[in-house]
Amino acid sequence: MGWLTSLARGLGLGGRALRPEIPDPLWAALLRQYPFVGWRSLTDQQQLRALCVEFLAHKEFFGVRGFVVSDPIALAVAAQACLPVLHLGLKAYSGFVGIVMHEGPVRAQREWVDDTGLVHIWQEELVGEAVGDGPVMLSWHEGAAPSATQGPAAFNVVIHEFVHILDSLDGELDGTPPMPRALRRGWQASLQLAFDRFDERSACGYSSVLDDYGSQDVAEFFAVSSEAFFTMPWAFQQEQPDLYRLYADFYRQDPASYPAP
Ligand SMILES: [Zn+2]
Repeated sequence: MGWLTSLARGLGLGGRALRPEIPDPLWAALLRQYPFVGWRSLTDQQQLRALCVEFLAHKEFFGVRGFVVSDPIALAVAAQACLPVLHLGLKAYSGFVGIVMHEGPVRAQREWVDDTGLVHIWQEELVGEAVGDGPVMLSWHEGAAPSATQGPAAFNVVIHEFVHILDSLDGELDGTPPMPRALRRGWQASLQLAFDRFDERSACGYSSVLDDYGSQDVAEFFAVSSEAFFTMPWAFQQEQPDLYRLYADFYRQDPASYPAP
């Protein structure tokens, strides 16, 4: 356990509830390693840093099979997780406490019974998972680490899983998170249209700023396109201008308004 995470859990100083301070060098390293945080305005960065302090104070990290969740790792997860709720608030994440971290991907056994009663069993490799009110599972090297987030298409496992949490706050993982009624009116139709277009485009082999995984279903498309909204907003705005506007209203952020680095 790192210093930030141990302080966050009130250990060390008589068990008093403490807010961990994020040391300046640690924050500076985060801004360098995750450019989509680094190119944000100072105001955004200060708000994000304050949210990270709250996040670290209320969440518990567990490293699996000897994986040590150091301070830079805990902070990297906190910052990426807090980006989608920068202007929505941390309350959205109050349904769970634990974040389980693996060094690499995890093999999970899946089971599905078809209409004829035949049981299909297969192995799946996961780099992240968020289910209901259970702990969030993340892989460091293939998921949350800086090197995992750099590629031609947007890829960010932490944002992806935390967007699933937002999405499922109303009990359904369907690409429509709880939102003000005025916004909700056009949401499903716009998202479905963008999803259908993306599905056609990826079937025809067009390149996209969105990861192919988004063609699974609308919920995955919402998570995958949100990754692009936060980490490659200029390209995303160009490719999906309507969806960009919709997300800017929902997340109350306009990341493409910053000068591209
Ligand atoms: Zn997903």
